[in-house]
Amino acid sequence: MILTNKTGIVKPLADAIKALYGSHPKMDIYQYSATELLKSPKQVLLNRQHGDEVEKDLQEVIDAVLGTAWHKAIENIIVSQADDSCIVEQRFKAPIMISTEWGDKDINLSGGVDLLYRDNAGLHIVDWKTCKLTKLDKARDGEEDDWKRQLYTYAFLIEATFGERPIDGTIYGFPKDLTNAEFNIEDPSKFKVQAIKYDLSDREYEKELLTDIKAKLRDIYSVLASDIEPRECTMDEMWQYPSSFIVKKPESTRASKVCESVKDAMSFLVDKGWIGKGYMIYERPSEPKNCSTYCPGLKWCKQGQKAVQDWKDAQTRAKTFNDKGEEV
Ligand code: SF4
Repeated sequence: MILTNKTGIVKPLADAIKALYGSHPKMDIYQYSATELLKSPKQVLLNRQHGDEVEKDLQEVIDAVLGTAWHKAIENIIVSQADDSCIVEQRFKAPIMISTEWGDKDINLSGGVDLLYRDNAGLHIVDWKTCKLTKLDKARDGEEDDWKRQLYTYAFLIEATFGERPIDGTIYGFPKDLTNAEFNIEDPSKFKVQAIKYDLSDREYEKELLTDIKAKLRDIYSVLASDIEPRECTMDEMWQYPSSFIVKKPESTRASKVCESVKDAMSFLVDKGWIGKGYMIYERPSEPKNCSTYCPGLKWCKQGQKAVQDWKDAQTRAKTFNDKGEEV
C-alpha cells in the first residue's frame, strides 16, 4: 500500500501513523489467514494482486490506526501480566486439504488469537476490537456472522494444535461512536465495553464453515493455477442489502427507525403517536458498502465500479415522503 500525506501532517507524526498502520506479511498461494477468508475469493485475489498499488492518504487510515494502537496497548499490558494460564497473541496454523482438478492440495490456514486462557472449565478465546455500535447490536441479535466465523475458525485451529477445543469465545467490543451521554450502566447495549459471547460447541456449524472455507480456497486456487476469471461477488459479499426507508426529523443526523418500506415506516409513526410531529421518511437506496467504502480492489473491479455507479444514480432519484406517506 502507498500511504500519502496530502494534508501535510508533520513528519514525525506521519511516520508514527505509518508505522502503526504497518503492513501484512506476504503469504504464498498455499497460505491464507482466517480473517482474509472472511472476504470473497475475488476480493482476496485483487488484494493479493494489487495490494502494493493501492493508494490511501494517512487521513483515511486513522480509524484503523487508532484501533491497532488501542489493541497493541491492551496486548502489551496483558503480555506483561500473563501467567501460565494465558497465551497472548499467538498465530495458530493447521493444514486443510482441498480437491482440485490439479489434484489434492494442502493449504495452510492460520489465525492470530488475541488471548487464549484456561480456567477450571477449560479453554476460552478472547478477542478485542474497536467497532461501531451497530456492529455490536447486530452481533447481540445474532446477525453478525463474521465474528462467529472467526471464533469458530480459531477454535478449529486451536483444537488441531493442542487436541483440545476451546469451550467458548468472547469478543470484547469498544464502540467508538458511543458518546458519554449515551452510556448507560443499566443497559449492556450502551456499555463502553461490551462482551459478546459465543458458544463454540456447534459441530454442524463448524462443518458448514469448513466446507465454505474449502470452496473459497478451491475458487482462489483455480484462478491462480489457470487464467480463468474469479467468480463474481455475491450481494452479501458486497454488503449490499435491499433499499431501506429512514424515519427521522429533517434536522436530525440519526435515524429514529430504519424500515423496509414506506408502509412499515408509516405503521411505526402511527404506533409511536408521532404523526404531525415533524417526522419524514427518506428512501435510502441499496449501497454496495464493501465496494464503495472498504474494498481496496475497487479500482480493478468492473463489477464493483458498476454497483457503486448504480447506487450513486439511485441516490439522485431517491424519494422523500411526509408523515402521511405522500411523496414530497
Ligand atoms: S469491489 Fe466489490 S465486487 Fe469488486 S471485489 Fe471488491 S467487494 Fe467484490
